[in-house]
Amino acid sequence: DVSHGPILYLEDISVSFDGFRALNQLSLAIDDGELRCIIGPNGAGKTTMMDVITGKTRPDRGSCFFGQTIDLTRLSEPEIAHAGIGRKFQKPTVFEPLSVFENLELAMKTDKRVAAALRARLGSAELDRIAATLERIGLQGSADRPAGLLSHGQKQWLEIGMLLMQEPRLLLLDEPVAGMTDAETAKSAELFASLKGDYSLVVVEHDMDFVAALGGKVTVLHEGSVLAEGPLASVQADPRVIEVYLGR
Ligand code: ADP
Repeated sequence: DVSHGPILYLEDISVSFDGFRALNQLSLAIDDGELRCIIGPNGAGKTTMMDVITGKTRPDRGSCFFGQTIDLTRLSEPEIAHAGIGRKFQKPTVFEPLSVFENLELAMKTDKRVAAALRARLGSAELDRIAATLERIGLQGSADRPAGLLSHGQKQWLEIGMLLMQEPRLLLLDEPVAGMTDAETAKSAELFASLKGDYSLVVVEHDMDFVAALGGKVTVLHEGSVLAEGPLASVQADPRVIEVYLGR
């Protein structure tokens, strides 16, 4: 299988804002090739956790490793992106006047190796990469459309394609199906299933039906640390989890 130990390892991470503990000794390991969902009520620390992984927020204490050797707490946000961690926020941020093809082409240019190669010209290898990504995100029929004309779901898939053009190993996705139609959500589940294995994914998600469709292990955050972890059905049956959700 694809598992070779953790791709992401957080240990004892704490973050405070003006004395408020947003993350409280959070420890978490994501296996290589795993798809992990992060759930938890508002304010649980999910966004702060993503901010720590991507270098946007520095932890007050604790360690955060990517693979065996890359200490993320010592890298800047751009360095972390180049190391192979792509992040997508909840709202789509595509270049709307540009075509789908041009959006993917532009994103590919942020891959350092490609940027160097492209100083000469766009070769057939790069065209192949764009074609493969178009197919993967289901937009092969829309390559020449302005991205601003895509549906909300298609924009979200395009943005995931833009992350893929940067050859990440780990994808962090914040509520990727928020605002999608049921059909788009179902297509997203298929897309994510196809990404799993080739990439590692951490998906922050409130839509429990979608979490169930994704399968795999679920981590429940609460008050900045892990409350429960395991298959969705077992964490949903956990009295501490029920308490947290009903006690809101
Ligand atoms: P979630 O994404 O699970 O809803 P967050 O990580 O956004 O949770 O927030 C965790 C807690 O930290 C919340 O109580 C929030 O108000 C607080 N918080 C997050 N970012 C900041 C900040 N920059 N300054 C002050 N408080 C913050």
